[in-house]
Amino acid sequence: MIEEKSFLFNLEKVTQRIKDACDKSGRDMDGVTLLPVTKNWPVDAVRYCKNSKITLVGENRVQEATSKMDLIDGVEWELIGHLQSNKAKQVVGRFSRIQTVDSSKLLKRLDVASLASEVKTAILLQVNAGEDPAKFGVSLADAPALFMQALKCEGLQVDGLMTIAPFAPDDPSVSAKTFFRLRTLRDQLASESGLPLKVLSMGMSGDLEQAVAEGSTMIRVGSSLFGDRMV
Ligand SMILES: *Cc1c(COP(=O)(O)O)cnc(C)c1O
Repeated sequence: MIEEKSFLFNLEKVTQRIKDACDKSGRDMDGVTLLPVTKNWPVDAVRYCKNSKITLVGENRVQEATSKMDLIDGVEWELIGHLQSNKAKQVVGRFSRIQTVDSSKLLKRLDVASLASEVKTAILLQVNAGEDPAKFGVSLADAPALFMQALKCEGLQVDGLMTIAPFAPDDPSVSAKTFFRLRTLRDQLASESGLPLKVLSMGMSGDLEQAVAEGSTMIRVGSSLFGDRMV
C-alpha cells in the first residue's frame, strides 16, 4: 500500500488531468465527479480519500466492500463490479448506488429486496457500449427495453448509465466511440422518458480524457491513484 503522501501527489495529478480535459471541452469541473476505486486495497485507501474530503468510493466485490464498510464510517459506497442476482439482498441498503445492473433478473431481485427493506435503491444500467465480448453489460440494442422495465420498479431509481470501454491502450478512438454511444443512448432514453438520467459513469485511469470529452459525469479511477494492483 502506498504512503498517503504519494496518494496526495497522485490525486493532484488526476485532478489536473480532469481539469485539463474539462478545459479542453469547455466543461465545468463541477460536472465531473471523481470516484476513487479502492478495490484490492486495504481500508487505508478509503481513509486516504476521506482525509482528502472524498467520501464516495467505488468497490467491485460485495464481500470485500462490506468488510471495509465495517471498519470505517462517513463514507458512501458504489458498487461498480458485476453483481450476481442471488446477492441482491446483500447490497440493498449498504451501497448508495449499484452501477452494474445489466439484466432483467437482477433488476427484479433488486426491486424486491428494496421494497422489502423499504428503501429506494439508486442504480445505473451497465451497457456494453463497446460491444466487447469480454465485458458485462446489456447490449445497446437491448438497453431501451431494460430501461423501460427499470422504470416500472418502484423500489429502484434509475440515475443514468455506466460503461467500461474495451481495453485498447494504443487506440484512444475505441474508448471515445464507446463513450459517444453511451451518451447518445442516454440522450435518447432521457428524451423519451422525460427523466434527466444525469449520471454517465464512464472513464478510468487510461481513458478519462476521452470520457470527459464525451460528457462523462463520473470518472472511476483506481491505479492512477493507488498504484498498480496487487493482484
Ligand atoms: C477497477 C475498475 C476501475 C478502475 O480502473 P483503473 O484502470 O485502475 O483506473 C474502474 N471501473 C471498474 C468497473 C473497475 O472494475
